[in-house]
Amino acid sequence: MVMDKVKWIIEKGVYPYMEKRRGNLIRQKTAELKSDQHLTSVESNEIRKKKLQDLLLHCIESVPAYEEYRSLEEVIKADPFSALRKFPILTKSTFKESFSSYLSREADSNALIENYTGGSTSEPVKFYMDRHTVEYYEAARWRGLSWWGITQGSRSVMLWGNPLELNKYEAKKYSLKERWLKNRIIIPAYSIRAEEMEGYIRTIRRFSPEYVYGYASALTIFSELMLDKGLALGFDLKAVVSTAETLHDFQREIIETAFGCPVVNEYGARDGGIIAYQCREGSMHISAENTVVEVVDPVTFEPMSAGESGILLTTDLNNFVMPRLRYRIGDRAALSERSCPCGMVLPVMEKIDGREDDMFVTIDGKYIHGHAFNHLSRRTRSVRKFQIVQESPSYASLSIVTEAGFEQNEIDEFIEKARHLLPGTKIDVNIVEDIPISGSGKHRYTIRNFPLR
Ligand SMILES: [Zn+2]
Repeated sequence: MVMDKVKWIIEKGVYPYMEKRRGNLIRQKTAELKSDQHLTSVESNEIRKKKLQDLLLHCIESVPAYEEYRSLEEVIKADPFSALRKFPILTKSTFKESFSSYLSREADSNALIENYTGGSTSEPVKFYMDRHTVEYYEAARWRGLSWWGITQGSRSVMLWGNPLELNKYEAKKYSLKERWLKNRIIIPAYSIRAEEMEGYIRTIRRFSPEYVYGYASALTIFSELMLDKGLALGFDLKAVVSTAETLHDFQREIIETAFGCPVVNEYGARDGGIIAYQCREGSMHISAENTVVEVVDPVTFEPMSAGESGILLTTDLNNFVMPRLRYRIGDRAALSERSCPCGMVLPVMEKIDGREDDMFVTIDGKYIHGHAFNHLSRRTRSVRKFQIVQESPSYASLSIVTEAGFEQNEIDEFIEKARHLLPGTKIDVNIVEDIPISGSGKHRYTIRNFPLR
């Protein structure tokens, strides 16, 4: 392959420049995380313990929301992990209500970076972080990508939503910056069109990226269209990286078939950074130096045993400006006790069940996971896309986009099975041309519009 000059410039010029002029430390932090993955589990645990201890002591000292826990000081000094469990679980609504009390008194207001949660089900929640936190988020991503031979300058194509409402000039500036400072081009994920597939593939071939990065649902649709039209890239990618949404097994299979390369799952949240990254053995390794991950029972809030699914809590170890301890990010997951054959000591997540809101409730109070519906559609070729929205235990609506040349009996069977999953719930069915993507740019298969309990 010809040498990628832009990659060379980014790695030898852009990054060193940003480090010198702006004090950017992403490369140093990436190197730090990469060396940590080779530590023994005892050494690795010591690092986490120290970071958590510093954070908790800072919280009881300088963060109004946590000052009432000052009595935990000795426990924090002795065993910060058990001290953490004495702090309350933080929900998005509590955080939002008492937003300002989570801001550290020591935070430098000029250094605060404003961010918002994805908010695909509820309205976005504002929070603050600082550059230190963001750089560790980035570093965790680059460490994960390094397992696949990908570096900061590696050329990529992103299947992505537009970042802002840009005018023509801004859009041009944005794409130039993406191209020449980040070595990547963007194919808009909001508007993938079947009739433009040949054009997209030509663009990708010409650009010849090392990897493709995008939303799980956008990658799936793109892959389905490639397969439908018999299109292939004609060269080898290092990986297709799926992010921002739950990556279902059926989606992984489709993407792998279309692109003919490994599909890598990146699991993160805008308000939690990179939580876990898939290694070459297929395990989801937790970014344990950045985040303490807990999985607890949704009712009793007691810790779940390994392999058992519960609600996921994260404690960001780097955000001292607005700490959120045991933050309920809205996903269900299970932890694992096994060590991975890849040899890294970073703990492993057994499974990630995706948004908590994907759970549905039957009239007699049974919980049905949204995956069940995904599973049905996977076996029904006639269903291209669907979305089921449950408004109450007694009512839901199901929208279906049919595949060209669909078979009615397959559609009927899909509807019947969907009804079977929610017995007693009235389900209105609509066959539609398309299903609009949610505000965050993600396609959601399953939406529940009322609280679980
Ligand atoms: Zn591994």
